[in-house]
Amino acid sequence: MIKEKKDIRALSRDQLRDFFVSEGDKAFRGNQVYEWLWAKSAHSFDEMTNLSKETRAMLEEHFVINHIRVDQMQRSQDGTIKNAVKLHDGLVVESVLIPTSTRTTACVSSQVGCSLDCKFCATAKLKRMRNLNPDEIYDQVVAIDNESRLYFDRPLSNIVFMGMGEPLMNYRNVLKAIEMITSEDGLGMSPRRITVSTSGVPKMIRKLADDKVRFKLAVSLHSAIDEVRSRIMPFNETFPLKDLREALQYWYQETKSRITYEYVVWKGINDTVEDARALVQFCRFAPSKVNLIEYNPIGDDTFRQADFNAIEMYREILEEAGITVTVRRSRGKDIDAACGQLANKS
Ligand code: SAH
Repeated sequence: MIKEKKDIRALSRDQLRDFFVSEGDKAFRGNQVYEWLWAKSAHSFDEMTNLSKETRAMLEEHFVINHIRVDQMQRSQDGTIKNAVKLHDGLVVESVLIPTSTRTTACVSSQVGCSLDCKFCATAKLKRMRNLNPDEIYDQVVAIDNESRLYFDRPLSNIVFMGMGEPLMNYRNVLKAIEMITSEDGLGMSPRRITVSTSGVPKMIRKLADDKVRFKLAVSLHSAIDEVRSRIMPFNETFPLKDLREALQYWYQETKSRITYEYVVWKGINDTVEDARALVQFCRFAPSKVNLIEYNPIGDDTFRQADFNAIEMYREILEEAGITVTVRRSRGKDIDAACGQLANKS
């Protein structure tokens, strides 16, 4: 019988140390390997040059390194880069590098496909196949950090969990990935440069607060009126706005961290004064910021970007209520890399 090899990055540092002891070697060998696996992001045991040939062969016998492979890279006219990332089992996710004059942001995926059913999102049309493992999320960040250094001469500065999938439905692995991204054993990034975006799973938002996470939270709201939100984001029936709001209140009470709302204004769907007022009512309990994001068409006519006047109306009403507003232009549209367009098209 062929023994199936284990994914070595599923082991903690202590487990690796124990493994070496059980093999009659020294525990510190585990530290060396751990460093190769995370901080140095090794793709193979052969790269681990401070280990003997025998040790490397022994590791090879027991374990695999399920490193992702950037299968295809597309560059947009505006500098945005989209990676099609192949996983060890052949499935594909996408991640995006978004450059500005001062920053490089990585937009990473947390699941293959998505189990939610937002009517305006291309990823929702893909079935959710599986959750990504912590190392598969980590690798996407490393790949984009490398590209940022190569093409923009600077390291990655920010990370947003706004790629494929619902991060809070892969809670454990997302948190484990962030732990490695922020750890000195990994990439040593500040958690304040990381934003996790959720369509709003109340129970998991409370859990984030209880777990005292230090990254930022963004909520894809799109409407603060249940009837409208349920129409465009059907899971709102299960997690209505009242529950979402209570969870967010709890988040703010525990973390004192400002909440960002992502919001697209669509013609004939949520572009009235009443819609804008409901948004103010929903988010005024805590310091908030609203990103009015441009709609990226996904090839059906149900949704159309609202008129400029409607966006300005939102801006005025929000600003009057003391809520920070930004109006976001899309990036990477020409290569289907913009919000809601990730669908493994190529
Ligand atoms: N599931 C998480 C993470 C995905 S983030 C979440 O919903 O927050 C992707 C963001 O792009 C979300 O804010 C989503 O609402 C938005 N989005 C989806 N489709 C879009 C589209 N066609 N145009 C613009 N934004 C879109």
